[in-house]
Amino acid sequence: MRMVDLILKKRQGLELTKEEINEFITGYVDGSIPDYQVSALLMAIYFQKMTDEELTNLTFAMLKSGEEIDLTKINGIKVDKHSTGGVGDKTSLVVAPLAAAAGVKMAKMSGRGLGHTGGTLDKLESIPNFKIEVEVEDFFKQVNEIGLAIIGQSANITPADKKLYALRDVTATIESIGLIASSIMSKKLASGADHIVLDVKVGSGAFMKDVESATELSEKMVSIGRLAGVDTVATLTDMSQPLGCAVGNALEVIEAIETLKGNGPKDFTELCYKLTAEILLIAKLANTEDEAFNIIDELIENRLGLEKLRQMIIYQHGDGNVVDDYSLFSQASNIINVTLDNDSTVNISSIDALTIGEAAMILGAGRKTIDDVIDHAVGIYLKKKIGDSVAPGETVAVIYGNGKNEDVALEMIKKAYQYTKEEVNKKNIIIKVVR
Ligand code: URA
Repeated sequence: MRMVDLILKKRQGLELTKEEINEFITGYVDGSIPDYQVSALLMAIYFQKMTDEELTNLTFAMLKSGEEIDLTKINGIKVDKHSTGGVGDKTSLVVAPLAAAAGVKMAKMSGRGLGHTGGTLDKLESIPNFKIEVEVEDFFKQVNEIGLAIIGQSANITPADKKLYALRDVTATIESIGLIASSIMSKKLASGADHIVLDVKVGSGAFMKDVESATELSEKMVSIGRLAGVDTVATLTDMSQPLGCAVGNALEVIEAIETLKGNGPKDFTELCYKLTAEILLIAKLANTEDEAFNIIDELIENRLGLEKLRQMIIYQHGDGNVVDDYSLFSQASNIINVTLDNDSTVNISSIDALTIGEAAMILGAGRKTIDDVIDHAVGIYLKKKIGDSVAPGETVAVIYGNGKNEDVALEMIKKAYQYTKEEVNKKNIIIKVVR
């Protein structure tokens, strides 16, 4: 195979064979195919797209390029949950403990945040002493004993995806729906779960800006999962405004704990119920959504979901008392109220999630580059969401800062809020489910 022929074939819109895709991935990882030829192929894929079969072959080639986690040492039904990332997305901290408390084995490998979206690992590290680096044998032992672990992803998973993703980032080929689908699914399939529940975010704070492209991405991922023999379901959920009220690491962990106590914001609670229900359904621990919701109600009422989170924190060397005492989290020194310039009562019509995410990032809650150090205490708490009314001088959001970029963040938050005198309907968090 000559790489130039493969580029030409894709440029002409023809289908690549399994062997061609395997050779391209192997050659790219071992360094025998240079970046410039792979860049040309990626651009051809971007314009000509790939069939479901090509995407499945690409996913498998990337999956086979590195370590595959063999979860057979864990007894029971293993389900993985993955979100495509959004602002204020702390669902794993609620959904994984609830599902584990219901009897599902949640062996979860998560990532760090980059840019305007936060990562689950960064949120967990706001818990004093919490360890995300766990040896694989200890990971299995933990999940067998308590049903739940959330740890850092092994460095050896899908090296082909890591290399390709970095190249896509600098060749304007990230936004290819097929390439995103196979990138996500290669990592998920390498993590070894029996079933996968995906949460695909839609809106300004997400990769997918509209329902059509999010549907296409979801259908591709569900199809790749099915062809790999792993039951996969995808929810499409709203990310046109931040999820819940808290944005920033410790603030989000506190919101997750409150949700496990039954006091979470409405949109966030609804999404956690939906995703946990999908996990219980796919694991066959509930037959209907109503049955799943009743199980979740009970786990919140009797605090078994909360206790499962505490158990995981203690197992991973963290301070389990944080679930009762929020003063154990590091605290921001400056608390600043944000008001709008309205001179009469108005209704919030939109809150740009991307801008809020970026404002939290410049306060220190996120990373612009991979080497930036995170301040776990800082962030933004949204007191008003879409559809809420705001009187003159009323606080819409609160900044938790430690002296970094607070003035700039304040202006950004004010700009992110749009308002009107008209009535505004609240947004539905669940858009649809792709099975
Ligand atoms: N997330 C991924 O893991 N891969 C992509 O290509 C895009 C988002």
